[in-house]
Amino acid sequence: MRPSKLWPRIFVDGDLFIEGFLGLTWCPSAEAKAARDKWENSVDNLIGVLTKKHVGWAVMKALHDSGHTLTIVPNPSKDCNATTYPESAQDAAKKGKEAEHCSKEAKGSNLGTGKGTSSKITFSPGQWVKNGQCAVGAAGRDGDEILLHEMCHAMRYAAGMRTSCFETPVGFGDYEELVAVTITNVFSSETNRTLRRDHEGFAALPATTGLFSKGKKVQVNLHDPQTFCNWFRPQMENIAKSHRAFSSYLASKKFIRWNPFAYV
Ligand SMILES: [Zn+2]
Repeated sequence: MRPSKLWPRIFVDGDLFIEGFLGLTWCPSAEAKAARDKWENSVDNLIGVLTKKHVGWAVMKALHDSGHTLTIVPNPSKDCNATTYPESAQDAAKKGKEAEHCSKEAKGSNLGTGKGTSSKITFSPGQWVKNGQCAVGAAGRDGDEILLHEMCHAMRYAAGMRTSCFETPVGFGDYEELVAVTITNVFSSETNRTLRRDHEGFAALPATTGLFSKGKKVQVNLHDPQTFCNWFRPQMENIAKSHRAFSSYLASKKFIRWNPFAYV
């Protein structure tokens, strides 16, 4: 495990590659050490790529300023997945909100403290490279986009601002996925890539989206960032209130074409 080159509170830990039977790491082969170094270097390179862009820099700056750490480890399975685990679900959640279960009352072990917490991300960049095992779908599934999506979750947990039960349109699973998909779409726009529709697979945002207004279905062009912000104003305002410095930084980057933060 080592800190990333640019962010002292973000660690890359490829020790899984050198752990043999019982997780012992005292006698790794040269081949295992090379696999670890290759994985750590490729993740650190992606952190460098993200840092050069406004959205990536802003997410990692917010993470850094929280004082909590982020550790990135290899995806232990062959599944096309990356996941963010908070050290404490209660400290990741906003004070007074549900820590994990939306159908249960926010009390006891289901009560958020808002203290903020460190996180771990499981992620293997090799799965997401062009022609890689997971390189299917139209949008949001390049390695840097996948890693940034997970870092958005970590940023929310580090700030103690997770509100997964906040009202969310269908297709996103929960509110935290809407937040991660939306911020990553601003990054995809900054880097001239396709916008992702929602959190069901990696489909591109269609030309128009059917949404309900006063019981009637209407077709809305969510490629227009102002329209997106108007339709999802409570959701956008919740992000802005939770991460003020982050949101006002993004709002000032008006040259990014799809940037709903400019209209909150
Ligand atoms: Zn996610």
